[in-house]
Amino acid sequence: MLALATFPASAVAPHDDAAFHRCIAGLQKSAAAKGVDGASFKRLTTNIEPGWDVLERLDYQPEFKTPIWDYLAALVDAERIEDGRAALAKWRSVLTRASERYGVDAETIVAVWGVESNFGQNFGQRPLLSSLGVLACSGRRQKYFRGEFIAALQIAASGDVAVEDLRGSWAGAFGHTQFMPSTFLSTAVDFDGDQRRDLVGSVPDALASTANFLRKAGWRSGQPWGFEVRLPAGWKKSDSGRRNKKSLAHWRALGVTKIDGAPLPAINSKAAVLLPAGSKGPAFIVLRNFDAIYRYNAAESYALAIALLSDQLRGKQGLQTPWPTDDIALSRAERRELQRALLKRGFDIGEVDGLLGSKSREAIRQIQPQAGLPATGQAGQKLLHWLRAQASGTSEAAP
Ligand code: CA
Repeated sequence: MLALATFPASAVAPHDDAAFHRCIAGLQKSAAAKGVDGASFKRLTTNIEPGWDVLERLDYQPEFKTPIWDYLAALVDAERIEDGRAALAKWRSVLTRASERYGVDAETIVAVWGVESNFGQNFGQRPLLSSLGVLACSGRRQKYFRGEFIAALQIAASGDVAVEDLRGSWAGAFGHTQFMPSTFLSTAVDFDGDQRRDLVGSVPDALASTANFLRKAGWRSGQPWGFEVRLPAGWKKSDSGRRNKKSLAHWRALGVTKIDGAPLPAINSKAAVLLPAGSKGPAFIVLRNFDAIYRYNAAESYALAIALLSDQLRGKQGLQTPWPTDDIALSRAERRELQRALLKRGFDIGEVDGLLGSKSREAIRQIQPQAGLPATGQAGQKLLHWLRAQASGTSEAAP
C-alpha cells in the first residue's frame, strides 16, 4: 500500500509489464473513437515493450541551469551555419515553393530544421509507442500523453509513417521537425505529392510542415523576428520581458535604438524587449514572429537560437554585444576536442559526440581544479586552452 500510495490511483507502477499491457488494452475504445480499427490497434500494441526509463526523464531536474551563451554556442556554431547554407542551396526549389505557399522565409524554415534535428541527423532513437505508452499509463502527465499515444497510433494506422519509423525523443517528438504526434495530425502536410505526410522520410514534407506550423502560429510574412538593440541609460528592468508588449513607437519614445544607433523601424507588430542574460548582456526587440517560433517549443532560449541562426543564414552580422562572461562558450567542434582530451587523460566519458552529458561534466569537474578553475562541471574556452597547453607540453617532453 505504501508503494502504491506514491502513484495516482489509476497509474501503473513502473516495471509492472502485465499492468502496462492491461492499461494499453484499456485505450482501445479511445483509439477506435479516433478511427483506429480493432485489427490495427491489436497489431500496433500487442508487442510494445514498455520503455520504463522515460519516467526518469519526465522527472529529471537539471543539476544547474545552462547559461544562455553556452546553450547558443552549441546551437548556432560555424558548423550549423555551414550545414544550413548547404541545406538552403540543396533544397532551394522546395523552400521557394513552401515560402510561397505558407509565407515563411526559407532561412527561418531551415533554422528550425537545424535546431530541431540537426538537418535530419538526429531524430532520437526511442520507439514512440514504448515511450508514450509508459507516459500514458504512469507518471504525472498521463492524460496529455494518452492523447499523444493515440495520435501516434493514428499516424501508424493511416500509413503516413510506418510504426518502425516512429522513433524520437523520450517525450515523443519525432522526425526532421520533431513534431509531437498531435501536432503531426493537425499540421503536417504532404509536399512531395506521394499522398503521405512523412516527416521521417521526406525532407519536402518536413520543410513544408514546419512552414505550415509557423503560419498557423501567426507568422507575418516579410517581417523579421526582431533585432539586437541598444537601450537608453537608466533602463528600467521591469520594462523588459516577452510579455510586456508595446508598439515600436513606444520603445522609440523611451530611447531604444537599433544596435548601430539607427532609429527603430516602423513595423506593424507588437514588440517586447528581451534581455536574456540580464542588463549586462545583449538586448533584443522581439516581434510577432518571435512568438511564432516560441510556439514551436516554449523556451525563449530556444526561440532565440532559431532566430539568431536564421540571421546567420541570411548573412547578417552576429551579435554586437558580448555575453556577460569572461569564459567564452564552446562550439560543438570545440566540445568534441575537449572530450577527446578528456578521453586521452583516461576519463570514461563514453562517445565523443560534442554533447557534454553527465559523464563529461563529471570529468570536467574533476579536472577544473588542476587548471586553477572552480569545479563547476561546465567548460568554456579557459579549460580548453589549458588542456591544449598541457597537451603540447606533454608532447614536447616525450622522447
Ligand atoms: Ca509525402
